[in-house]
Amino acid sequence: MANETSRLLSLLLSADVPALRVSEIIRQAEADGLHVDHLAGPRHVLDISGPTDLCHAGRFQDMTSVERVIEPRNGLRFASLDLFPQRSQVRVGDAVFGGEALTLVAGPCAVESREQILTVAGFVAGAGAQLLRGGAYKPRTSPYSFQGLATDGLQLLAKAKEESGLPLVSEVKDPRQLGHVLEFVDMVQIGTRSMQNFALLEEVGKCGVPVLLKRGMGNTVMEWLLAAEYIMFHGNPNVVLCERGIRTFESATRFTFDINAIPIAKQLTHLPIIADPSHAVGRRDAVAAVAKAAIAAGADGLIIEVHPQPDQAMSDGDQSLTFPQFDQLCYDLSRLAPAIDRQWLPAFRDRSPVRPPHVSES
Ligand code: PEP
Ligand code: MN
Repeated sequence: MANETSRLLSLLLSADVPALRVSEIIRQAEADGLHVDHLAGPRHVLDISGPTDLCHAGRFQDMTSVERVIEPRNGLRFASLDLFPQRSQVRVGDAVFGGEALTLVAGPCAVESREQILTVAGFVAGAGAQLLRGGAYKPRTSPYSFQGLATDGLQLLAKAKEESGLPLVSEVKDPRQLGHVLEFVDMVQIGTRSMQNFALLEEVGKCGVPVLLKRGMGNTVMEWLLAAEYIMFHGNPNVVLCERGIRTFESATRFTFDINAIPIAKQLTHLPIIADPSHAVGRRDAVAAVAKAAIAAGADGLIIEVHPQPDQAMSDGDQSLTFPQFDQLCYDLSRLAPAIDRQWLPAFRDRSPVRPPHVSES
């Protein structure tokens, strides 16, 4: 580790660097009395430390196969915007997170029945969603609450995908479930309560599937980004971050949406970031306002809970939007997007581009 008279540098090697060249650079640095840690994730990164007179950027920056040299400001490497200055995009089916267009994920908190999931999928697809969400393994505070339909839920999600064409996002709580869930879904969600389940982070890191990583409700932005770093270090670059609210003293809402986290995380990482206003506020009368604020603050998209009859939902009904409320939100987003230089590709693809709002908040 670097101290006042020593320095730490991170070297990003070129994407096509041959293994022999990696060993050669390491050998040479070690022969010069420097300490080398080789981080082999989606790319090769060498952490090199030693006395400041030996360990300086000039020594490395013109070397063959060295793409970039930085003095790391924090613990981030593969998720670091300093080391990877180009914003990354994560593709899931036809949807792209982190492109010019906003990405909208919508669906019920949990899959409850065939009719429920097929109705929601058809509706949100028509209104502008690009991915369908729905939990089959629910992380519930009480063991006596509805835990999800498990495999039956996954099969119903597959049916909804077949009918709506939307790729699927669903939560995995346990690394032992991962293989099974991956037979059905296109993107796995790591929930707020699992953000530091390191065994789970490692498993999703090894399998390369797109991951939606929610921020832990009691975790700092840096802890959240380091959780992403775990996934990436184990080989998976397809990480999308999701701010979903943190615990504060405020009791008028379920959690507090941390709008600060969006610009702050964007300064530190190249990964796409979306917002989950549903879980953050926990009440449907405030979801749309927070959704729009998050987009205005720079979020790349949203994940929104929608239910055909929220009052009868088996989980998170209070925060689930009705169909007309979701439709209204999509309409508002289609008008907001151009004002912040974002595109709203999917909205109203089968309809006229501008419709008057027709729903009042309820
Ligand atoms: C969910 O998406 O339904 C969920 C449980 O989210 P979180 O982990 O953010 O509470
Ligand atoms: Mn939920």
